[in-house]
Amino acid sequence: PVFEYAPAPESRAVVDIAPSYGLFIDGEFAGAGDGKVFKTLSPSSEEVLSEVAQAGAEDVDRAVKAARKAFGTWSALPGSERAKYLFRIARIIQERSRELAVLESLDNGKPIRESRDADLPLVAAHFFYYAGWADKLAYAVRGRSALNGTSGADPRPLGVAGQVIPWNFPLLMLAWKIAPALATGNTVVLKPAETTPLSALFFADICRQAGLPKGVVNIVTGDGSTGAELVGHPGIDKVAFTGSTEVGKAIARTVAGTRKKVTLELGGKAANIVFDDAPVDQAVEGIIGGIFFNQGHVCCAGSRLLVQESVQDELLDALKRRMGTLRVGDPLDKNTDIGAINSAEQLARIRSLADAGEAEGAERWAPACELPSSGYWFAPTLFTGVTQAHRIAREEIFGPVLSVLTFRTPEEAVAKANNTPYGLSAGIWTEKGSRILWMANKLRAGVVWSNTFNKFDPASPFGGYKESGYGREGGRHGLEAYLDV
Ligand code: NAD
Repeated sequence: PVFEYAPAPESRAVVDIAPSYGLFIDGEFAGAGDGKVFKTLSPSSEEVLSEVAQAGAEDVDRAVKAARKAFGTWSALPGSERAKYLFRIARIIQERSRELAVLESLDNGKPIRESRDADLPLVAAHFFYYAGWADKLAYAVRGRSALNGTSGADPRPLGVAGQVIPWNFPLLMLAWKIAPALATGNTVVLKPAETTPLSALFFADICRQAGLPKGVVNIVTGDGSTGAELVGHPGIDKVAFTGSTEVGKAIARTVAGTRKKVTLELGGKAANIVFDDAPVDQAVEGIIGGIFFNQGHVCCAGSRLLVQESVQDELLDALKRRMGTLRVGDPLDKNTDIGAINSAEQLARIRSLADAGEAEGAERWAPACELPSSGYWFAPTLFTGVTQAHRIAREEIFGPVLSVLTFRTPEEAVAKANNTPYGLSAGIWTEKGSRILWMANKLRAGVVWSNTFNKFDPASPFGGYKESGYGREGGRHGLEAYLDV
């Protein structure tokens, strides 16, 4: 890089992390019944941040019962009253956003610029958005019958929702789950991921600060076994899961044959498709953001770059130059572009897939970059000469690794983009509006971005085709997952 580098660290002192945390059940924090705990680390330093309760079957049962007890009064509240709590939560999130952003960067490893400017504003926006829906549900669908008298469709909450979320956007995934559930009158037991439990526990504190009635939101921390207890509990009416396709399939098997409704937000292998008429600099920024945002720990990451052959050389030169300016390091430094990999396991997975890329004959390139000595790090990496048969073109890497493939015609681009069991998202870069419309119809992906990437809006539904899951979160469609009509 040609620029002078001056560190600009965000203050860690803005967040006060307790040495230990209990489960949040029925409005109170308390340890697990059997006293089990686990440690949560900062992936950038490997420092232990706190010790957190590991919920077992009895704790999950207590949480589900608390949510059931709260359901009667919560669901009977007028929507306008539920909205007040959600607006209050949204405002407290805004007031505490600096603290929460620092916490998220410490526990997850993501750059503070991203937690501050992307995660936290979107978290608050989700609560504001669904607060606005809470008092409009019933009347939005009631109408006068054309035949005789009135007819109506009455949306009713499902009951208790069991929600399981991953570690890549801990607080944002919580917001996607909790905001629509509460707006529609459901109560919740949520399990955050085992490597990032802290922001969900801070959220529990925000629920108390907002005066949310006891038992409406319950947080049970723990690993996959806690998640399995929750999903399998006979007292829940709805399962909402975000995570890997493998676990999603196991959950679908668990709930099959029960009364539980289920929505699954799973993995992806998005194609970011660049045509030769796209402005190169703009496309390069979109490719960089598409794959290196949040270390590539993004379900809709643009992990396959499909570039039109005629522009390949120019685009790859510009992309490599830009990758050379990316700063990998301390998540709390405001200059950092790429933070720490979330866990040792995830780092091992990324390394093994990148090694497979090389072994299968793709060409590996990364800019010269010095990685910190402690913590979990992976340099931004590019593979060229990738074919559709390579593992790095087929499997979700969930890290800062981009696989480049080429195409000649729009038809070939569509065929290659769709040649995956996943179908979460895709990107198109071209000046031609007609081509964008044609491609968007042909691409089997729940979200298609054109001339941008990784843009989110609470009003816009999000979810997958094929093995990327079913159901939608966000927007009006996100309400349907929590209602019987
Ligand atoms: P994961 O499936 O391993 O874990 C997700 C959550 O499920 C964690 O809380 C985990 O403890 C829990 N869990 C594990 N085993 C379980 C079981 N048997 N029953 C119930 N719960 C269980 O996934 P991960 O590694 O934490 O997250 C990465 C994955 O999440 C990627 O595949 C990514 O694409 C996906 N993801 C999808 C979206 C989306 O909206 N589609 C968003 C973010 C992440």
